[in-house]
Amino acid sequence: MELNQLTIHELQEKIKNNSVTATQITESVFSRIDAVEERVHSYIRLMKEDALAAAAKADVDIKKGNIKPLTGIPIALKDIVCTKGITTTCGSRILHNFVPPYNSTVVEKLRSAGAIFIGKANMDEFAMGSSTETSYFGPTRNPWDLERIPGGSSGGSAAAVAADECIASIGSDTGGSIRQPAALCGIVGMKPTYGRVSRFGLIAFASSLDQIGPFTKDVEDCAIMMNIIAGYDPKESTSVNAEVPDYRQFIGRDIKSWKIGIPKEYFIEGVDPEVNAAIKKAIRVIEQSGGQCVEISLPHTQYCVATYYIIAPAEASSNLARYDGVKYGFRAADVRELLEMYKITRMQGFGSEVKRRIMIGTYALSAGYYDAYYKKASQVRALIKHDFDEAFKPCDVILTPTTPTPAFKIGEKTDDPLQMYLSDVFTISTNLAGIPGISVPCGFTSRGLPIGVQFLAGHFEEGKLIQIASAYEKNAKIEKRRPTL
Ligand code: GLN
Repeated sequence: MELNQLTIHELQEKIKNNSVTATQITESVFSRIDAVEERVHSYIRLMKEDALAAAAKADVDIKKGNIKPLTGIPIALKDIVCTKGITTTCGSRILHNFVPPYNSTVVEKLRSAGAIFIGKANMDEFAMGSSTETSYFGPTRNPWDLERIPGGSSGGSAAAVAADECIASIGSDTGGSIRQPAALCGIVGMKPTYGRVSRFGLIAFASSLDQIGPFTKDVEDCAIMMNIIAGYDPKESTSVNAEVPDYRQFIGRDIKSWKIGIPKEYFIEGVDPEVNAAIKKAIRVIEQSGGQCVEISLPHTQYCVATYYIIAPAEASSNLARYDGVKYGFRAADVRELLEMYKITRMQGFGSEVKRRIMIGTYALSAGYYDAYYKKASQVRALIKHDFDEAFKPCDVILTPTTPTPAFKIGEKTDDPLQMYLSDVFTISTNLAGIPGISVPCGFTSRGLPIGVQFLAGHFEEGKLIQIASAYEKNAKIEKRRPTL
C-alpha cells in the first residue's frame, strides 16, 4: 500500500516507530494528486509549497520525539473555513479573491495538533447544493465513477479522501453536506452536535444549522479528528462549554443490549432498491452484534425538507447580505453609482442557486409572509426536534439510510431543484434538531457505487455514534475496495 492510502492511525504508528517521515507522506499525497486531480477536481487550491515546508518542520519535531496527534498527517480543508493569508472562496465568484486575515478555530486546532494542510477543497457555492455542481470553479467528480457527482456540498473534501488525495478532511454540514457526500464516496463522515465544534471562521450559510465535521477513511480516524476539533470556544457564542470525552475510547466497545430505533418513515417509496437492501443487511449486522432493533416513528419526517427550505434560505438571505462589493471580495467594474455597484456586484458575483436561496429567504422573511412561512417553519422545527426527544427515550441510537439513492449522474438534477433538494431527505432533520449523525460505508451497488448507513444519537452523544459505527464497521466486514481511477 502507498502511504497516501493509509489511515491517520496507521500513519501515526509508522511515524512513531520512525519508519516513515512526514515529508514522505506528504510527497506521496502530492504524487497522487498529480496523477488524478485533473480528472477528479477535488481542490480549488493546492498548498504544495507550504505543505512541504510544514512537513520538513514536522520531521524535525519527530526527530526530537515531539509528536502530536496529527504530526505529519496531510489534511484537506473545505474552502468554507477561513485560512489566514490563504484565499478562501466558499466556492463563489463573490469571494474568489478573499484572503482572510485570521484562521478559523478549527484550522487553529488542527494546526496546533500538527496537521499538514494540503489544499482548499471544492464545494457547492456557499455550501448550497448536494452535488458540488454549483461551485464557481466547476464540478468535482465522484472517484468511483467520473460521470457521477460526489455529493455535496462538501464534495471536494469527500472525493479527496476517497481518491487518497489526502488522509482526512474537514467539511461542513447544514442539511447533510458531510454525511451525504461521505455516503456517495464510500467513506466515514460525521456531523457533530450543534455547538460541539466551533463555527468561528466558518463562512456562514444558515447559522442555526451549520456544523463543522470530519471526513475519514475509517471510524477510528473519525474519533481522532473529533478529539482535536471538538470543544468550547469563547470566540463563538453558540459553542457549548461541555466536557469533551476521548472519543477513541469508544472504538472497539460492543453494543450488547443497545436499542436501535428504525424509523418507519425512512423506508419509503423512492428509495433505491439496492440502498434498501444494503440497509436491511446493516440492520442484520447490528442485530448480530448484540443490538436490538425496534421500529420507531418520527411522525413529522415528511415536513423536514419543506421546513429546511424555509429556514436555511431565510438565514442565508440575511447572512449573505454582507457581500456587497464594499469591504472585500468581488466588486463589479464600470459602475457609476453606489446602488448600481451593489446590484451588479451581487448579480455577477453570485450563481443562480445562491440567488434562488436569497430570493426564497427574503420572501419568507418579508412583512406579511413572515408568519405564514418563517414562523410556521420554526414551529414545525420544534415538532421535529420533539420527535427525536421522544424517539431517544427508549433508544440509544437511530439507524437510517444516509441517502435515498447512490451517486447520480453529473447534470441529472441541475434543472430540477426539487429533485436535488430531495437527495437530503434523510439528513436534514438531524440539523433541524441539532443532534449528531454519522455516515459509514455499508456496501456497493451492482455498478460498484458506494452506499452509506447513517446513525443518529441524542445531543452530545457523539461517543455513542463512534461506538456503534466502529462495532458495525468491524462486524459488517465491508469489502475494502478502492476506486480505480
Ligand atoms: N444540500 C443541502 C442544501 O443545499 C444541504 C447543504 C449543506 O448541508 N450545506 O442546502
